[in-house]
Amino acid sequence: MNTKRYTIGLDDHDSPVAGCTTHFSFLLIKELEREGLKLVGFPRLVRLNPNIPWKTRGNAAVNFTVETDRDPSEVLDLIWDKSLQYVSEISKGTQYGRSPGVAIVKDVKTNELGWLYRKAVTDVVTRDLVEKIAVKTGVLFQGGRGVVGSVSSMGFRGEGKTLELLTYRLPENWEKRREVDLQSLINFEERYFPDVYANVDYINGKPLILSHGRDPVLFGIRGRNPSVLLEGLKMIEVSEMIDGFMIFETNQGTDHHFLRIGDKPYQSIIAEVEVKDVKIMPGGDCIIFSTHGTMIVYKETGELNDMARELMEGDVIRVYGAVKPSVSFGKIIEPERIEVLRLSSVTKYLNPKCPKCGNSSESLGKNKGFRCRRCNYRFNSEKIPIEYHRRISIGTYQSRYYRHLTRPIFWENES
Ligand code: ATP
Repeated sequence: MNTKRYTIGLDDHDSPVAGCTTHFSFLLIKELEREGLKLVGFPRLVRLNPNIPWKTRGNAAVNFTVETDRDPSEVLDLIWDKSLQYVSEISKGTQYGRSPGVAIVKDVKTNELGWLYRKAVTDVVTRDLVEKIAVKTGVLFQGGRGVVGSVSSMGFRGEGKTLELLTYRLPENWEKRREVDLQSLINFEERYFPDVYANVDYINGKPLILSHGRDPVLFGIRGRNPSVLLEGLKMIEVSEMIDGFMIFETNQGTDHHFLRIGDKPYQSIIAEVEVKDVKIMPGGDCIIFSTHGTMIVYKETGELNDMARELMEGDVIRVYGAVKPSVSFGKIIEPERIEVLRLSSVTKYLNPKCPKCGNSSESLGKNKGFRCRRCNYRFNSEKIPIEYHRRISIGTYQSRYYRHLTRPIFWENES
């Protein structure tokens, strides 16, 4: 028997009413195992450019490796059959304009596909470019727009990886409300933080692990250690039986989406800028005018918005954010993290104290001296410079709601 290893990529299997690509991979892997193909290692959940406007939720694609003695085209046909079945019967994606794609390759050419992955996580890529690279690297593919994500995801081989355990609901529960015991979740996070994170919104007292909408995911827990995630499965109390679960290697929490150079719409960039002015909008959003253009820090970003309100002309900050088109400004940056690098000093000039009685004085006009408010003594003096105390300090501030790809700040000093 001549066993070969293939990497399989999948994308665009969801719809707004049902299904998701990871759920398709969960069913597909079970089906392939029944057909005698063997899964090798963990499947990979690959988040691509988070700013892509036509994504449904978190712009996720999946790839995984299997062992089999079958030919790649035979495996591709098998997967494509299952893919069509999933989007017509389960996710109803075909009715909602979704456009699934699948791909298979024997050896992942890490140079070309690694480059494509980097491009797809940071920028917009065209189907044309993807097809050219697929042909050059021996990737076979089938389907529509999802081919972009399925081929691009293959270039992520687990560098800097984190893990996510996803649980799937039984079909009879898909329409029901998801319920989790908050205290059991808090106990789990308190025990294993920072190896698990972003499970609880402590400010609003809400679980963050539950999926929303009518997709088949019950909850997902993120972490770095498979045995801790399995512990979570035991500790977290939910009100329904699950259909099964799968642990994925992921590029979540890696910051892979940030580019150091670039400012095209839909890219996420890192830019060191000087603040020129700050305006607080009536609803609470904060606009920063800077040497690198205009930024908006939404009220919902919590601590990040609180900090942005305190910025002043001359402050130097490093911004991590998404570039979006804007009607008012041409384009705008939406920061998700800001490092305050330098705070400009602000000097206020106060009237001097009366040299006779020590009380406060008032100015008699420019270059006309001062008069004591109590004893009326008139005197000449300079105004007294006072350093104004800033209410923010040098450091890193992050949005309360960060994206899948964003590296948590509490991992900042880890390698
Ligand atoms: P789900 O999590 O259920 O998969 P989603 O939010 O991931 O939903 P998709 O259904 O995957 O949304 O839709 C994203 C679409 O955008 C896919 O067809 C994918 O091929 C495509 N895509 C992903 N990244 C890029 C990119 N960088 N440039 C162009 N197209 C992209």
